Amino acid sequence: YPAKTLGQMFDEAVVKMPETIAIIFEGQEITYKHFGDQVNRLATALADLGIVKGERVGLMGPNCPEWETAFFALLKLGAIVVQTNPMYVESEIAYQMNDSGATTLIVFEPLYPRVKNIIQETSLQRVIGFNFVAPVKSIEGLYSFNELIAKYEPNPPSVFIDSGEDLAVLQYTGGTTGVSKGVMLTHRNLICNTFQSISWSLDLQYGKERILTILPVFHVYGMTNCVNYAVACAATQILLPRFELNNFLEVIDKYRPTLFPGAPTVYMAINSHPRISEYKEGLAAIKVCNSGSAPLPLEVAQKFAEVTQGEGNLVEGYGLSEASPVTHSNPLDRPTREGSIGIPFPDTDCIIVDLETGNRELAVGEIGELCIKGPQVMKGYWNKPEETAETMRNGWLHTGDIARMDEDGFFYIIDRKKDIIIAGGYNVYPRDIEEVLYEHPKVKEVVVAGVPHSYRGETTKAYIVLKSNTEATGEEFISFCRTKMAAYKVPHLVEFRNELPRTIVGKVLRRQLVEEEKAKIQ
Ligand code: ATP
Repeated sequence: YPAKTLGQMFDEAVVKMPETIAIIFEGQEITYKHFGDQVNRLATALADLGIVKGERVGLMGPNCPEWETAFFALLKLGAIVVQTNPMYVESEIAYQMNDSGATTLIVFEPLYPRVKNIIQETSLQRVIGFNFVAPVKSIEGLYSFNELIAKYEPNPPSVFIDSGEDLAVLQYTGGTTGVSKGVMLTHRNLICNTFQSISWSLDLQYGKERILTILPVFHVYGMTNCVNYAVACAATQILLPRFELNNFLEVIDKYRPTLFPGAPTVYMAINSHPRISEYKEGLAAIKVCNSGSAPLPLEVAQKFAEVTQGEGNLVEGYGLSEASPVTHSNPLDRPTREGSIGIPFPDTDCIIVDLETGNRELAVGEIGELCIKGPQVMKGYWNKPEETAETMRNGWLHTGDIARMDEDGFFYIIDRKKDIIIAGGYNVYPRDIEEVLYEHPKVKEVVVAGVPHSYRGETTKAYIVLKSNTEATGEEFISFCRTKMAAYKVPHLVEFRNELPRTIVGKVLRRQLVEEEKAKIQ
């Protein structure tokens, strides 16, 4: 792996490919030369404001060139980017700023009112506002991003950064299973994962690729597999601030991306577009569509292959914030193995350990917790030594995911440890039941959770979104399951929903559904 920092990787793209378009955004085209100039001006300004190496700086906003400019400017100064979800409400912003000890927040200006209300409760000393719709005017308490860029020359101080030791990013976990923790990722962690991902790509051409950046860049998956990946191979990012299916398909048609990292929900949405056949050519021009962040239901993968007439090249991978994030993917030079997350990335060791103690390595085919060792694995959780010690044991990252490996070394995620349902003394994996329900012709989306029950303790419940223009009763699905699985697995309850609660990258918030159920009982 190149012994570089992310800032050096950025500078290399600027020097080697100044005239290549780095970002296409809302019709605007930005060359690497201009991108580099903006990054250097902002870095100079931030240094002048007093931001030094090791300082935590929140970065909160939607996908836009200003976000990426701030990201690389901070990295060049050795500051630690605290990835802040733009959907956070005041209490969440305050928690994250205090947990990380951030002194500065660079925020999408329309979100500033949320920040203003909590600033006194936090460690924040200054806030900088950016906006891609219109320039920001500085006001009391808010520096203007564009005014800073205009005022300073592109001469940032050169800062020594130890790639293996110094942190680049605090990536807060999605919090789908509990309190969000700050994952400490070094420059080397992120560089390695970027180049591991690149080594997985076929026919990649430096300065020639086009990456469709629809994943949120504040999420670890979008940060590594869109932003860092693009810069590492001087690719053009087709950057979209939000996902709207029609606009998105038009963009594919117009700009012909070659790489498209996405999440299952995006592929589900594409599958259900009524005029999808009109976009077949654009979709087929994409060399690889990577799906990660949540299980890719078989039915979705098959339908995607059908709508793209076998040309979609949808490949499932797997990762987690603690591993920068990618650890597995299906190889691209052979057909993907259905239901599998593929094989480990280069230099990534994996073992499966027993669920009870986590100490005993299991044999091929046995089900247990997936543990990972590799250069992309985090340094630990920020200020959480106990959680770090529990998750990182003897250099192995315990993922909390239950998996098995087949004889050819392909891995399969069974479920998350925390989602196992204990029904009548048996372990039930929600995902097994979901896969069966996805086979039902009336099911559009489904999630199964173990919900509290007044006399059973815990019971299995299926939340179903029906396909449009269909009607059904819960009993229909229960009978369907009875014919397809052992009785102890069959859901006892079925609820219909118009949509499922999901995180921004499409993970179903099972915890929210369980909380709702708990509230009903109390
Ligand atoms: P928290 O750890 O706080 O609950 P989170 O799990 O949402 O948050 P992430 O790091 O964003 O945090 O998600 C990683 C998890 O996503 C993995 O541990 C795994 O459960 C799930 N995941 C990712 N890819 C896949 C996949 N292809 N199949 C199944 N699960 C996946």
